[in-house]
Amino acid sequence: MVQRPLHIAHLYPDLLNLYADKGNIQTLVSRCIWRGIDAEVISVPSGTDPNLCDYDLVLLGGGSDREQALVGRTLRNSQNEWKAAVEDGLPLLAICGGYQLLGEYYQLPDGTKVKGLSILNLVTEAGEPRLIGNVAITSEECGTIVGFENHGGRTWHHHEVLGKVQKGHGNNGQDGSEGVRYKNVFGTYIHGPLLPKNPVLADLVIATAMEYATGERHVLDPLDDTLEQAARDAFLKRRIQVEV
Ligand code: GLN
Repeated sequence: MVQRPLHIAHLYPDLLNLYADKGNIQTLVSRCIWRGIDAEVISVPSGTDPNLCDYDLVLLGGGSDREQALVGRTLRNSQNEWKAAVEDGLPLLAICGGYQLLGEYYQLPDGTKVKGLSILNLVTEAGEPRLIGNVAITSEECGTIVGFENHGGRTWHHHEVLGKVQKGHGNNGQDGSEGVRYKNVFGTYIHGPLLPKNPVLADLVIATAMEYATGERHVLDPLDDTLEQAARDAFLKRRIQVEV
């Protein structure tokens, strides 16, 4: 058991919150509370260096190009701490703009390269047109993951992927890959927000954070996901046109 609340850090919610990414935080907290797990959200405002040692889980949401450039600067202040924490297993969920910032660089449409954290061996090149639409991917760990994507950047890497594209564009619109998995890092282009419609992934993230916090493997109590399942079924049927 965790003797203190699970510490969930929401980084730069004032800059990185495209397509209601903060719904991911609400989902994580609700699914903890429903199980009697105490969770505390630490909102880290823009321009502030994070105290990575204090967190059990970090969320980096999506952002516009302008906001990404601002966040990139702050993130790089503590690049070494980030590298060490991720190698040590810090759970990190990074969405779209946040995901791009984990890599070497994110190239803006004018060709300028915004430097990332270089935690992952990953680059994001500018491209046209924007890759927009509903998306479904197949993940080995979580089955089908659904959501929405809207990005100009094309991401390329040789790490494990979060999933394979069933419908949509994914990392670059070409190689059928979506997102990244490295140690306890989950990176993806999927907004929606991601977690409300993907409870299996939400629980994997929570269990990973619990294990990181306690040093022990953690099996979560099951929840009644009837509503979440209905939302997924409706999405798959109406938006992805897959019979469920
Ligand atoms: N600005 C980035 C892009 O367009 C990320 C956008 C996002 O987070 N949705 O590629």
